[in-house]
Amino acid sequence: MPNPYDAIIVGGGHNGLAAAAYLGRAGLRTVVLEQRGVLGGAAVSQQPWPGYTISTLSYVLSLMPPEVLHELELRRHGLHLYPLAADYYVPFPDGSHLLLTKDPQQAFAAIARFSRKDADAWPRFSALLARVARLVRPLLLMTPPAVGAKSPEDLLELARFAWKLRGLDVTGTAEFVKVMTLSVAELLDEWFESPQVKAARCVSGAIGTYGGPYTPGTAYVLLHHYLGEVDGQMAEWAFVRGGMGAVSAAIAADAREHGAEIKTGTRVVRILARDGRAEGVLCGNGTELRAACVVSSAHPQLTLGELIEAAQLPESFRTAIARYKSRSGTVKINLALGEAPRFDGLSQEESALAARSFIQLCDSMEYLERAFDDAKYGRPSAAPYSDGVLPTMADDSLAPPGKHVMSCFTQYVPAAWSQASHAPELEAYADRVIDGYARFAPNLKSAIEQREVIGPYQMEQEYGLVGGNIMHGDLTLDQLFSWRPVAGYADYRTPLRGLYLCGAGTHPGGGVSGINARNASREIVKDWKRLKRS
Ligand SMILES: Cc1cc2nc3c(=O)[nH]c(=O)nc-3n(C[C@H](O)[C@H](O)[C@H](O)COP(=O)(O)OP(=O)(O)OC[C@H]3O[C@@H](n4cnc5c(N)ncnc54)[C@H](O)[C@@H]3O)c2cc1C
Repeated sequence: MPNPYDAIIVGGGHNGLAAAAYLGRAGLRTVVLEQRGVLGGAAVSQQPWPGYTISTLSYVLSLMPPEVLHELELRRHGLHLYPLAADYYVPFPDGSHLLLTKDPQQAFAAIARFSRKDADAWPRFSALLARVARLVRPLLLMTPPAVGAKSPEDLLELARFAWKLRGLDVTGTAEFVKVMTLSVAELLDEWFESPQVKAARCVSGAIGTYGGPYTPGTAYVLLHHYLGEVDGQMAEWAFVRGGMGAVSAAIAADAREHGAEIKTGTRVVRILARDGRAEGVLCGNGTELRAACVVSSAHPQLTLGELIEAAQLPESFRTAIARYKSRSGTVKINLALGEAPRFDGLSQEESALAARSFIQLCDSMEYLERAFDDAKYGRPSAAPYSDGVLPTMADDSLAPPGKHVMSCFTQYVPAAWSQASHAPELEAYADRVIDGYARFAPNLKSAIEQREVIGPYQMEQEYGLVGGNIMHGDLTLDQLFSWRPVAGYADYRTPLRGLYLCGAGTHPGGGVSGINARNASREIVKDWKRLKRS
């Protein structure tokens, strides 16, 4: 019997599905194997309570570039986006607040209430981020060169990379280095004086990171969240109609249209290999499937540490993968609300904007740093940080009329909580998040009809997010670009011929982008053509 498949894809998160779509378009016969009963991985919509649909983990879209949206025809497959109305709504303990939209005049007036100097600096700071983002964005779509390798092919790739940076002048280089290495607090201190403005800006540097705003490297995390766009508007974020699972569903539709077979409830327990080459997989139900290539969107430490017999990989490589950092203090809290929260002290117009923005529980950089300090010393945050959104303000498909869902992305619990469920402590932690919001939205508590609290242990056990890390591994310079997941293997290949990675643990890191799969598929197709010719 000839093999029915050319490529077996491990994991039906959005990247695994996108790999199937891209490879299918290139003519490969693909099958996607997803362990859970539902597709999407961390980009998933589920119905935990009758009448409500929630984005269980990821909650807003931005990082998916137009290339992926267009190539996979996601709009034709039903993807519909609702851009957020404002960037931030940050209430402060003294009753004041900062509500920031992309309208320069509105932002100027809002910031000037705290500092005229910062109001002047705000557009210049945004321009700085935009300059560095424009430099970095083309790098996201390329296969990173193996820095330090000396083969003519590698040197050519390095030259191509250097060419992409040709726009950098002396000042630009300095800006680039700062953003890549500083802590977000140091960067913001250079630009702003008002604690309120810094509070609004610093959180993007800590999202998904096991570090506080004073942790070196968090300025890059801020940039990472600035690299996306919605409908041509840079750094914009959007709700997805039907929740984030609708992104995965649209990609799955495209993959199926290009011949992919997609099996849920199918766990891969072993990647089969012989003579240094991957040749198939063994599933939990005992079925063996064979193909010329195996493409894994699962976390690198699962793929290379658990699914492959150790003897198949060089020891130095296994050590590097074991050292790969994948930690987290993230807890996701999803709420079903009987009514919308009413925010104290806002005009009707401001209220409408605030309800369609990131509703932030973090009133200063020190607040965020203290929240992390607790976790660093083994305790959940006494006063957690939260980024809350109300997708039902834009999307009426998620809840019964008049009712709402609220999605809270919160930090921090100790990284060690990925090792045990800590269920009662997580509930107490969630109470503190809700208490925090209730201080400026007094009706919130009584509006809550249902809640779900998902900590690092559940993220690891149920979703395969090792350490609960939302990005399949920390976004630190040593684990970015040519060093993601490990040096010498950022080109989506592994030491085992025919085994590729395509998930968030590869360049350019996490987020619902599909870029990892797009880049990986390009390399797989190159090898596939070579294999066919030989
Ligand atoms: C709480 C949270 C909030 C987030 N918020 C956002 C956000 O708002 N916006 C954003 O852009 N990003 C966000 N992210 C990050 C983003 O969701 C992820 O980085 C991205 O979805 C990862 O996609 P992926 O396809 O690479 O991996 P995953 O989505 O993790 O998919 C991997 C899949 O592989 C499956 N799998 C693993 N092992 C096996 C096996 N042995 N056999 C079969 N299947 C297997 C898993 O079940 C999973 O479905 C968030 C993540 C989390 C956790």
